[in-house]
Amino acid sequence: MATPYAFMGGQYLPLEDAKISIMTHAFLYGTACFEGIRAYWSPEEEELFIFRMREHYERLANSCKILQIGLKFSIDEMCDATIQVLRKSEFKENVYIRPVAYKSTKAIGVKLAGLDDDFLVFGIPFGDYLDVNKGIRVQVSTWRHLEDNIIPARAKVNGAYVNAALAKSEALQNGYDEAIFLSGDGHVAEGSAENLFLVKCGKLVTTPTTEDILEGITRATLIELARNELGIETIERRIDRTELYTADECFLCGTGAQISPISEVDHRIVGDGGVGPITRKLQALYDDAVHGRLPRYRHWCTPVYR
Ligand code: PMP
Repeated sequence: MATPYAFMGGQYLPLEDAKISIMTHAFLYGTACFEGIRAYWSPEEEELFIFRMREHYERLANSCKILQIGLKFSIDEMCDATIQVLRKSEFKENVYIRPVAYKSTKAIGVKLAGLDDDFLVFGIPFGDYLDVNKGIRVQVSTWRHLEDNIIPARAKVNGAYVNAALAKSEALQNGYDEAIFLSGDGHVAEGSAENLFLVKCGKLVTTPTTEDILEGITRATLIELARNELGIETIERRIDRTELYTADECFLCGTGAQISPISEVDHRIVGDGGVGPITRKLQALYDDAVHGRLPRYRHWCTPVYR
């Protein structure tokens, strides 16, 4: 039986013993940033592969710069701690990994500079976050997306996920599966925890990273796979809300969500309401990539046990 472990305060300990004080600055004010990384179990190789781990820690380092969090560990050290946590946990299944860099000082007072910082990481078994088979129903949210000069979407800030939670809950409570955010100026930004792609006339279209979205690693992965393996270019440009209604195909993507086809937006059927052919091809490629089955992209997969 796998027992989840955590790395915290420079030590490895069982997840249930990894605790923080109620006075921790990050708990009181959301002053932390995090990552979501997946590891996929390969039954063929009897190996657990962490997908694009280094890129996630590079993004964490950028988030930390924005939040003035001093990381105590190098990217290599954080990668190594992550491998050790999964090994100690003895996972032989798909895993979700959550690193957090946070303001650890126990104090009242809103600021960023002059506080202590810490880093932790843990993993837990994890299945699908959104449906990936039949297509989800989404709603354009009444909540607008955070902007770069409010809480930067480029940084994966813990406190910013209140914005996501408002939109996601509204969508779920209205009977949808997921929410799509418009930006402050009314263009399509992203899902509550996913980037968004359309297919129009055989080309992929996605929101540029300067439009208040997270610079998604799955997004970058799919742009590369589509170009190299399918010969399909991705156009990065602003997307109008009504383009969601008239797209041939539409999907959300993210580490948690993977590739989740959208079958309906605001009661308009997307395409023929099924999973479109380009979405399906990308799903197959992504599945092969994360399980280490594509030699060209094998460097994206870090084995845990080998
Ligand atoms: N946007 C938001 C707001 C997210 O939380 C996520 C999940 N990390 C994504 C996009 C997708 O990013 P990635 O592909 O790097 O997981």
